[in-house]
Amino acid sequence: MPLNRREILKIAGCLGLGLACPPMIYELAAKTKRPGDVPASALTAGSWGMAIDIAKCRNRCPDCITACHEEHNVPSFLDSRHQIRWIGSEPFGAVFPGQDHRMLPESLKSLSVPVFCNHCDNPPCVRVCPTGATFKRPDGITMMDYHRCIGCRFCMAGCPYGSRSMNWREPGPAVKKINPNYPLRAAGVVEKCNFCEERLAQGKLPACVAACPQKAMTVGDLADERSEIRRLLSGGLALRRRGELGTGPQVYYLWRG
Ligand code: SF4
Repeated sequence: MPLNRREILKIAGCLGLGLACPPMIYELAAKTKRPGDVPASALTAGSWGMAIDIAKCRNRCPDCITACHEEHNVPSFLDSRHQIRWIGSEPFGAVFPGQDHRMLPESLKSLSVPVFCNHCDNPPCVRVCPTGATFKRPDGITMMDYHRCIGCRFCMAGCPYGSRSMNWREPGPAVKKINPNYPLRAAGVVEKCNFCEERLAQGKLPACVAACPQKAMTVGDLADERSEIRRLLSGGLALRRRGELGTGPQVYYLWRG
């Protein structure tokens, strides 16, 4: 059974590891729900996944990023070392290095694609977290429990996709417009995409999916063979980021040519 935060901090303090942990993490409200409290109106799935039709994705369109970061009070720091990112956009060749070759069509070479947590089936971030702050829900979402996070950053080292960010500074002052419906994190805490679990619980689509003007992103139940996402995936080639690592990414990139 995972230790609670106080126990972990006590142990970390004894080991000399807890000295850098700022006291404000004690103040973080325990707003991150554990599974089991699901209202009837919630969108649910046996195994959540996302399919992104990258041919539909308008190059360098920022709408999914803006919607996600506004929804979740993601701060915007001028200093790139302090940058927090839940979702971003990267060149095709950087996202899929194994597919980057000299015969790659120019349309793909110049394409930027959305990147975020892959909610891996076999997530190394969860394996290395010493406190249980990051954990896997039965429906496939890889969660963060902010009030359990001790800022050790083992999860950041474990994630091969760079999907996690550390709050090196207090994020509140760098949030342009605070959404009162989502908790602010604190300095010393790691964060990442949560698949908009709070919106799914209210029967809403993830913010990125809802905001995409091209309807390029489809969220759905990979366990349901009649779902729209399964129909899309059965229709052609789907790439996953560094699938050879065995992490089992549950974000699929569709290429229809
Ligand atoms: Fe964890 Fe990274 Fe996989 Fe997300 S993408 S589940 S942070 S290993």
